[in-house]
Amino acid sequence: MKRSLDIDTSEEASGHKRPRRQTSHKDRSQGPNTGAEDSGLVRDKEFWYEDGSVVLVAGNVGFRVYRGLLVRRSEVFSDLFSVPQPQDSQLVCGCPVVHLSDTPDALREVLGVLLCGKKYIQKNDIELDRLSYRIRLAHKYGIEDLLDESIQQLRQLFPANFASWRATGRHYTSRGITAVNLARLTNTQSVLPTALYVCCQLSDRALLEGAAHPDGTTDELSRDDLLRCMAAKSLLGRTHVHGIHTLLHHIGSFVQGCRSQPSCCRAFDRMRHTATTRSLDVATPIDILDTWDDLLDKYDRTKVGGNALVSLCECCMTNLRERVFATICTRWASLPGLVDAWKDKVAEENGDPEIE
Ligand SMILES: [Zn+2]
Repeated sequence: MKRSLDIDTSEEASGHKRPRRQTSHKDRSQGPNTGAEDSGLVRDKEFWYEDGSVVLVAGNVGFRVYRGLLVRRSEVFSDLFSVPQPQDSQLVCGCPVVHLSDTPDALREVLGVLLCGKKYIQKNDIELDRLSYRIRLAHKYGIEDLLDESIQQLRQLFPANFASWRATGRHYTSRGITAVNLARLTNTQSVLPTALYVCCQLSDRALLEGAAHPDGTTDELSRDDLLRCMAAKSLLGRTHVHGIHTLLHHIGSFVQGCRSQPSCCRAFDRMRHTATTRSLDVATPIDILDTWDDLLDKYDRTKVGGNALVSLCECCMTNLRERVFATICTRWASLPGLVDAWKDKVAEENGDPEIE
């Protein structure tokens, strides 16, 4: 029996689970197996070059590509091919075969970058599936330029700067789990506060089930990160309720220019009641970085008009929006320090609800 070269890391880092091994050798999405010397190997439709010099195998799919290009771009392949090949190495179409533990989708994504210069487009990758493939394989195979570029993309999606965060569309989905694991894998600390914060907006079930990718792999949070999120969700909930009762409180006597205190008092009471009721809904994310615009707009006299039954005068509304924003800025600034504190909170059980 001929030997093949394997790059099969048994320890997949950062909670990344592989798909189950396929039992069928036929994948109808791939091209015909005509001429392949290895039964069960399906040629990839996109990356099977007749003049290719090496066959990479992921799952049951073969990718015939260029050995020299892999050596030039990847430290791992460079090391692999620097070792003389055994005489009895497995050959397909005269090319040495390298078996990889990656999925065909992930390998195809990275080969698309290496061979075709494909760019990463964020809006087409809402759940970070392709970015995940790129970072994991670039990290695994030592493709430094692709890794640096992909981590930069991750940083842009989970920025450490508040203005950038506000400008970024907030996707409170399981992409947060993927981002946490990619940050752990690559030691990209700046991504963690916002990525963990996004995780805290997920239901307990979503947190436990992890983020499934189209290639069959799943990102699951580590036990420590799950503990962090559990502690944080509790803390965020209490912070949110505390914020409702301090911010949505009528302070007419301190607001210069309010000439309708009875009306403004009623508006504050109504807003506080609405916000409290919303916070009791377990399906509602606990977003302490929310500016409450949808709620405030309904009580903004400049938007709903002076004849609205209950509304806040312009003076009080301006003051309220400023206080809400200042509170959010303070909360944002505290996020990085909370990454570790969240876990400690569980152990301490000291009951302090304040993070402002
Ligand atoms: Zn007022």
